[in-house]
Amino acid sequence: MTIDQAPARRSAITGLARQLRTALGPDAVIDDHQRLRTYECDGLAHYKVTPALVVLPADATGVVTTVRACAEAGVPFVARGSGTGLSGGALPHADGVLIVTSRLRRIVEIDPANQRAVVEPGVINLDITRAAGADGYYYAPDPSSQQICSIGGNLAENSGGAHCLKYGFTTNHVTGAEFVAPDGEVVRLGGKAPDATGYDLLGAIVGSEGTLGVVTEVTVRLVRLPEAVRTLLAGFPGTDDAGAATSAVIGAGVVPAAMEMMDALAIEAAEAAVRCGYPAGAGAVLIVELDGPAAEVDAQFAEVERHCRAHGAFEIRIAADDAERASFWRGRKSAFAAVGRISPDYIVQDGVIPRTVLAEVLHRIAELSRDTGIRVANVFHAGDGNLHPLVLFDDSVPGEAERAEEVSGAILDLCIEHGGSITGEHGVGSDKAKFMPRMFTEADLDTMQLLRCAFDPDGLANPGKVFPTPRLCGEVPGRHKGAHPLQDAGIAEVF
Ligand SMILES: Cc1cc2nc3c(=O)[nH]c(=O)nc-3n(C[C@H](O)[C@H](O)[C@H](O)COP(=O)(O)OP(=O)(O)OC[C@H]3O[C@@H](n4cnc5c(N)ncnc54)[C@H](O)[C@@H]3O)c2cc1C
Repeated sequence: MTIDQAPARRSAITGLARQLRTALGPDAVIDDHQRLRTYECDGLAHYKVTPALVVLPADATGVVTTVRACAEAGVPFVARGSGTGLSGGALPHADGVLIVTSRLRRIVEIDPANQRAVVEPGVINLDITRAAGADGYYYAPDPSSQQICSIGGNLAENSGGAHCLKYGFTTNHVTGAEFVAPDGEVVRLGGKAPDATGYDLLGAIVGSEGTLGVVTEVTVRLVRLPEAVRTLLAGFPGTDDAGAATSAVIGAGVVPAAMEMMDALAIEAAEAAVRCGYPAGAGAVLIVELDGPAAEVDAQFAEVERHCRAHGAFEIRIAADDAERASFWRGRKSAFAAVGRISPDYIVQDGVIPRTVLAEVLHRIAELSRDTGIRVANVFHAGDGNLHPLVLFDDSVPGEAERAEEVSGAILDLCIEHGGSITGEHGVGSDKAKFMPRMFTEADLDTMQLLRCAFDPDGLANPGKVFPTPRLCGEVPGRHKGAHPLQDAGIAEVF
């Protein structure tokens, strides 16, 4: 924004605050500076921007009213669910409106006959499982933040979780959505049926990180509660052995519901925080969970145990009941926060690699750590190859934060080099936009922008996220300048 534009933007925000207070009620609009600061970041707390205005609509109509008002005033907006995102996706725009969905918490319908739930976007992930439990169903994608994150945020990030190895990510569980396009139009995609005709626009919305509009209703698949669940905790000398056991289990055709690994430093952090009592002296632990029909689970469980022993597991514990199962998971589920016990500051990185290069990439991470003196704790979805290196640093030591950032970026380079990607489940957001050119060519990014511009030609929905620099119409004021290579080639038309 230039200095000349500043008063115009300020007056647009004042006008919007007045208009939305009248339409949605006084408690739905926050413009007091101190209260606005509550919303200045998401789970990635080192980026902070105070929004110009926060709006908390009570229902979908309130979202439509807000988006339409933003479109008319030419003011950008950012959707926010629970604000647990780890890539700065819900970071506010300083001259924009933050649309918070936390009041849209209605479970519209649990429909066991169709194995579907219809919910508002602010519904907490775990609440869907709680609501469906009485009918013998649950919602499978389970981010570690499932007690607090919203289904709208899950949809926007295509979130994963421990059980996504067997059941798939959010995208495999969303069959319908209603969303408000950036011009205020209400669009319905899909529904309860398993598939919809035509282009997979629903697929485009899932994982779009709030850059195509605001989701106001989600239809998700429900999964039948399994007859049996069996969980094993295995201690290994190191990550190589645990990685080899992971590959052996999956190579043998067993698909566990979850297969999670923690290295020595992550175990140390978890022990310090929650005293989870993992096998003493373990250089790595694996948690393997199988679910399904009891007979199948029993047969496969024996196979998992055999592969773990064959690859060096020196201690194997099998959960006798739900309480012991929960105790196995306690260390893993608390690992991100637990790292705060052993380091004043840390970056939660998120990259994904093919499972077969796990050992090689973990070695390279260890080398990076040795060369730079920056400690890295690894806790991750081993079955998916979805890494979560926790890069530890002390902000009070000059230069350490910068070195940690470098290590963190170098880990993403390793993921790309090994055929993986810069994010497995936490999204690109503000944090990783700069890494996009390492994975995609200019033409690739321009093509993605063509899709974005088809939804949002004026670039009002979550601008500055996902895409690295101002490009095409989505990131610069007004329509895009210059022809896209697809236009030059006569393949796409100007829109
Ligand atoms: C301790 C911890 C553990 C975590 N573990 C996991 C994990 O295992 N797996 C995983 O995938 N993630 C994990 N996360 C990250 C985070 O919880 C997920 O990304 C989650 O989906 C974010 O949901 P949210 O409601 O907090 O979204 P927010 O942080 O509020 O928003 C995230 C993105 O979604 C967009 N958005 C939100 N609501 C809407 C809407 N209604 N319409 C359109 N766009 C919208 C926002 O603009 C933003 O880009 C973890 C986070 C923490 C803090």
